[in-house]
Amino acid sequence: MRLLIVEDDLNLSNSLKVDLGAAGFAVDTALDGEQGEFLGSTENYDLVILDLGLPKMPGLEVLKHWRDAGNHMPVIILTSRDAWHEKVDGFKAGADDYLGKPFHTQELLARIQALLKRSYRQNQGALTVAGVELNEELQTVTINGAQAINLTAIEFKLLRCFMLQPGKILSKAHLGEHVYECDSDPDSNVIEVYINRLRRIVGNELIQTRRGQGYVFGPQS
Ligand code: CA
Repeated sequence: MRLLIVEDDLNLSNSLKVDLGAAGFAVDTALDGEQGEFLGSTENYDLVILDLGLPKMPGLEVLKHWRDAGNHMPVIILTSRDAWHEKVDGFKAGADDYLGKPFHTQELLARIQALLKRSYRQNQGALTVAGVELNEELQTVTINGAQAINLTAIEFKLLRCFMLQPGKILSKAHLGEHVYECDSDPDSNVIEVYINRLRRIVGNELIQTRRGQGYVFGPQS
C-alpha cells in the first residue's frame, strides 16, 4: 500500500512518514500544493493525506484538480480543529474523510485502514486474505493469482463470511445464519459438507476446525 502525504509542516510530515512506515505503508511526501498535485496526478497512490493550508497551491484546489481529472483515490484532509467550514468545503471538493489538527497518529491510522478497506471493496469488488481473492461482484475466487473459479451461491456466502472475519472462530450456527435465509432451517451437517467443498477450493490449511467451537479462516499462526 502506497500513501502520499501533502503537508508543509516538515516535523509533522517526517513523523507521519516514520509512523505510517512502521505500520507497513510505503510513504511519499510533498511539502507544497504544486508538488503534491503533481505527484498525486502522476503516481499511483492507494490513499492521500492532504493538508489544506499549503504554499503554492491550497489543498482544496489540489483536491479539485484531482477530482476534475477523474482521479478518485481516497483522500483524508487535515483541517484546523475548529474550522467546521473547512470540513464542509473539503467534502464538497471530494474528500473522503477529515481529521482535525492536532490529532493522534493512531486515529489517523484507524481512518486510513477503514478507508482503504472501503475503497478496496468498492473499486475492485474484491476481498483478499492470504492469497485468496474473492470477487464479490462476479462471485468467483482466485487462489494465488491463478484462474478464477466460479462459486455456488452458498460457497460464496460462506467464503465471504470467513474472509470478512479472518482469524476469528465462527460456529456452525453462526455460519448457517449467514448462509441460509431466515426461514430455512440450517442443518449443521450441510455446513460441514460446504466447508469441505471450500477446503478443496482454497486449500485445507486455510480453514481450520476447532473442535466443539467451529472454524477459523486464515493462515495458521
Ligand atoms: Ca499547513
